Amino acid sequence: MGVIQTLDMQLTNMIAAGEVVERPMGIVKELVENSIDAKATRIEVSITQGGIQSIEIIDNGIGMDSEDATMAFKRHATSKIHKTQDLWSIKTLGFRGEALPSISSVSEVVLETNDGKESTKVEIHYGDIISAKPFPCNQGTAIRITGLFYKTPARLKHLKTVSYENSLISDVIQKFALSHPEIAFTLISDGKESFRTTGSGDLLEVVYQIYGKDIAKNAMIIDDGDSDYKIKGICIHPQFTRATRNAMSVFLNERMVRPYRIQKAIIDSYANYIPSDRYPIVILDIKMDSQLVDVNVHPSKWEVRLSKEQQLEYLIKESLPKILNAHIQAPEVKLERIKEEKIVIQSFFEEPTPTKKVEIFQPIEQVVEEQTVDYKPIERKIEEALYIEPVVEKIEVIEPLPKRDFPKLRVIGQLHGKYILCEGDQGLYIIDQHAAQERVHYEQFLQTMNDTKHVMNPCLVPHMLHASSDMVRRVDEINECTKAIGIEFEAFGQDSLIVREIPMWLKDVEEGVFLQDLLDNFKDETEINKNKIHKDKIATMACHHSIRFNRFLTPEEMLEVVDQLKNCEQPYHCPHGRPTFICLDASRLEKEFYR
Ligand code: ADP
Ligand code: MG
Repeated sequence: MGVIQTLDMQLTNMIAAGEVVERPMGIVKELVENSIDAKATRIEVSITQGGIQSIEIIDNGIGMDSEDATMAFKRHATSKIHKTQDLWSIKTLGFRGEALPSISSVSEVVLETNDGKESTKVEIHYGDIISAKPFPCNQGTAIRITGLFYKTPARLKHLKTVSYENSLISDVIQKFALSHPEIAFTLISDGKESFRTTGSGDLLEVVYQIYGKDIAKNAMIIDDGDSDYKIKGICIHPQFTRATRNAMSVFLNERMVRPYRIQKAIIDSYANYIPSDRYPIVILDIKMDSQLVDVNVHPSKWEVRLSKEQQLEYLIKESLPKILNAHIQAPEVKLERIKEEKIVIQSFFEEPTPTKKVEIFQPIEQVVEEQTVDYKPIERKIEEALYIEPVVEKIEVIEPLPKRDFPKLRVIGQLHGKYILCEGDQGLYIIDQHAAQERVHYEQFLQTMNDTKHVMNPCLVPHMLHASSDMVRRVDEINECTKAIGIEFEAFGQDSLIVREIPMWLKDVEEGVFLQDLLDNFKDETEINKNKIHKDKIATMACHHSIRFNRFLTPEEMLEVVDQLKNCEQPYHCPHGRPTFICLDASRLEKEFYR
């Protein structure tokens, strides 16, 4: 007799639960998505013990009738798609009909729902329906999950500390708030409200709530598009950066995803403005025809496939630098001691490092303590859960950053042979002459590169470069990318490439090292054609290897640098992202002198 048999329903649901609801954050995400799909305008999330003890989501959406209230827990039962074609243009966040059966297979669920006509309560324990009966409740749906993973102890063990699970949930709710500023979200954690938005529809207000006033005041509006994509959102002045990618929130048709290539396009757009180990704060909502995106890639729906991803990357890389250029001015000097960011929200884009202690400023007491999970008996409070009218603190109305012009500067001196001091309307400007010079030369470089890319000088002795056999085989693909800047490699034996002539614009550069670096760039690329090396990047590299630039400046040259800096396209940062100058505000000086 054969040994293969079909698994029973509870078992298949538990297997699915492994993928969809790995941890409390995954459950919160699925349930909030359901509330959004149900057109809720208010969503309240309450968790205890990082969601391990209980998760409760209350919404004021369309609710369900009594039949659907039990049907919703059946596997592959969904109201969101009906036929195959629907799968190619999904307009809702959910569509797989997997979340509720999966969640209810590994926990105890109480659901109360009212669709305006019928009002129902359903109780399910680890996959078994305990009861389903009429029950008075408010319009909308309330769902409460307890006893999570009691019967799947391995999963329970896998959960990290309470504070870690809390931070993941808070992060996911903040992402929902950023993608849906028109919905009022509340997050209550162990009885304390930890986050709330008004649902006014104003994204900047949500940014204020999450990142604070300073950052909201330095917001620039993104609103651009091409024939296929519309991009909207907010990008923050590069003066504010983060150590992780987590503050780059990208939404595709309002869906939160992990779009590495789009994040990379954002990072590239900021590359000239911020150091390479920091990340910008950007909220980007990308709208496109739902047929251009395949969301049916993974049960957790974090991954998507885009049809014209490269086109979108170009749009972002065109658009963002333009916005930054138009708005950025020299950072203002802050005379207070700079405090470190207090809490580092753990990113779900990165590998968890839950026990990471967050060092703050100085005092040791502020280190986030590890908490142990404590399982207390559960109180069933769902029946009393009613909406409280939002009491929202008054938020100062904040306007996005206006466009700026380069300040009028007059050189008044030099400090330590390193800094050029200038006066301007706003106060004292301190220019880092090396950074400024780098910027000036970098832009000149780009210009010459554009103008003379096809003017070639034959090399007296061809440059011989070591390359792996794989690289030698792909020489045509590589040349396809470097053609635009006038560089052509030629295969030479099994493990070398040679370059016989170099373009004019490279004349002041240490060619050998530059060419090897350029080649190294293609080493890890599996798809060379698609990942065309960006011209700016080449210019930065070339500039780096340039012999001419790194030398001391005379006073006359300083005057010239200031003048040239003014004419730069992006005068405020060197090509590596450091500021070229800062401003000590006159009003600040007055304060310091008690005037
Ligand atoms: P999916 O969201 O993929 O359809 P789920 O298992 O998450 O699958 O939900 C199943 C169905 O239950 C949904 O299609 C929807 O009709 C209904 N449902 C779930 N949550 C809610 C809610 N908060 N309000 C109204 N209907 C809901
Ligand atoms: Mg769902």
